[in-house]
Amino acid sequence: GMTDDTATTQSHSPQLFWAEDGSPRSGRFGDVYFSKDDGLAETRAVFLGGCDMPAVWQGRKHFTVAELGFGTGLNIIALIDLWRQHRPEGGQLHVFSVEGFPLSREEAARALAAWPDVQDTARAILDQWPSHRPGFHRIDLNDWGVTIDLAIGEVEWALDAWQGKADAWFLDGFSPALNPGMWSEDIMARVAARSAPACHLATFTVAGAVRRALSANGFVVEKKAGHGRKRERLEARMNGEAPASPSPRIAIIGAGIAGASLARAFKALGHNPTLIEAEHAGAGASGFPASLVTPRLDAGDAFIGGLYAQCLERAGQLYGAIDGAILSHGVIHLAHMARDAVRFDKIAAQPLWPDNSMARLTTDDASALIGEPVSKGGLDMKTAFALSPASVLPVWLEGCAFIKATAASLNRTEDGWQILDADGAVIAEADHVILAAGWGNAALAPQLGLAPVAGQADWSTGETSNARAVAWGGYCVPTANGLLYGATHDRGVTAPVISDEASARNRDTLSATLPERLKQVDQGTTHRRVAVRATTPDRLPVCGILEDGLHILGGMGSRGFCASPLLAEHLAATVCKTPSPLPAEWVARLSPERFITRSV
Ligand code: SAM
Repeated sequence: GMTDDTATTQSHSPQLFWAEDGSPRSGRFGDVYFSKDDGLAETRAVFLGGCDMPAVWQGRKHFTVAELGFGTGLNIIALIDLWRQHRPEGGQLHVFSVEGFPLSREEAARALAAWPDVQDTARAILDQWPSHRPGFHRIDLNDWGVTIDLAIGEVEWALDAWQGKADAWFLDGFSPALNPGMWSEDIMARVAARSAPACHLATFTVAGAVRRALSANGFVVEKKAGHGRKRERLEARMNGEAPASPSPRIAIIGAGIAGASLARAFKALGHNPTLIEAEHAGAGASGFPASLVTPRLDAGDAFIGGLYAQCLERAGQLYGAIDGAILSHGVIHLAHMARDAVRFDKIAAQPLWPDNSMARLTTDDASALIGEPVSKGGLDMKTAFALSPASVLPVWLEGCAFIKATAASLNRTEDGWQILDADGAVIAEADHVILAAGWGNAALAPQLGLAPVAGQADWSTGETSNARAVAWGGYCVPTANGLLYGATHDRGVTAPVISDEASARNRDTLSATLPERLKQVDQGTTHRRVAVRATTPDRLPVCGILEDGLHILGGMGSRGFCASPLLAEHLAATVCKTPSPLPAEWVARLSPERFITRSV
């Protein structure tokens, strides 16, 4: 939820106040968000009409609208409202908008209450109003085929970070006189660079500098009669023909959480991938009775912290939409090294975790939350959670063609890829193949240097009521079938077997931190399971293109359930040529290219 968060309020507050007529005004910029008497009509005339909506999206499978200045969201709400009435059959609307000084949910709700005509659509957006975390936030309105990526941050950063191509632009950044930074020649050049052929653009201003900057960057600009008392408004157009959406054949190798996340992401974009899986869904490292969905914390590297914060936010949204998938909310992360106290202080203070969702815990706090005395404090990761993989995989894989076979090699052909089994027989052919087989990726992409880490976890049936999920290096998670605890990290082991020795290590880890829980465990019957995870040389996921039409999502180690849902959306977007939910500056750090040394 988005209530006032001090880190944001001070430096990025819109300094909102309410004018005498009730209209929202920005104290920071000295301008109104919209006019109280006919703001909605003006939005419709200037932006929707100015971009020739709804006619402009007729017959389009995907249509992308981008905006500078999200504000209260009124323009986007009016857009979606129109889309709902004139949606092309099976059409997907993608919206991108930028906001440097976000309103709280409460402020937006108050502002939008002025427009009962669009209240259903407004409600849907307010229900998912994003946090103030700097970066991209995705909102799905599945019933209407709408996805919104909202960039919280400065306009220059956002226009570099977003790699989409807009079919229509709304420029709505307060008046150029009061906010010239939103209208500079440089910004207009970035807008043009992010425009598809035949792109429409609309704005309320006819300022000469804006017209000249748009013309200089390839737009054909036209003044039009303004709305209401306003004399004029602007429409502009890029030359060319609107691009057609591709419909590639897609094959995904592996039906664990990476493959299932990819299947979900492709289906959401209107494509139906084929899954190739040697055993069954969740046969590998995604098949334990529970998985902790926790971010990798990093006190120094803004990329790592930011990436996992966004991954966690997206994972929470997508898993949260499946009944019974989230077993318990909140994970307590206990310090286990001397330097953790200072590190945790830094992490809790990062702007990545709005609304105190990453809270520092003293030893006493931690003991009280866990229900037994512990020797160190930690972090209450309030938006982390424990997940039931068995509730997720079948839902996300539903409807996909499923081939039970072991992919042993790949063969590039004139029009795509063949996937072959160990005897050289063709299992499937596709335009795009995505490797999502966990440790199984190593054999298909040996050049990446993936490394195996075997892990055994144990669980015991019995009473788990009120137990909180706790992690410290080891972990202990309540599940429907008892307490799950572990896990071992045996590097270099590719064919692990269940062992008493590993069980003893898991017991030791648990008893050293939570001896009372170990007593609980000892009252039930124990079960155990082992699987191999895959890690990369730099311990970051590998996500991106290996070569034309061949992609990978892997190397996620123990964080596949946190990272997969978002990274899969990025990969699916690159294949389907729709906007990615990831800022561009991260894409290179995730790309397989970093491991591939080229011979000159
Ligand atoms: N389209 C909005 C609506 O429907 O409510 C109104 C947008 S308001 C006129 C302009 C918005 O641009 C404000 O929300 C403001 O915070 C944002 N903004 C202004 N300068 C910015 C900048 N440099 N970077 C990012 N956002 C900026």
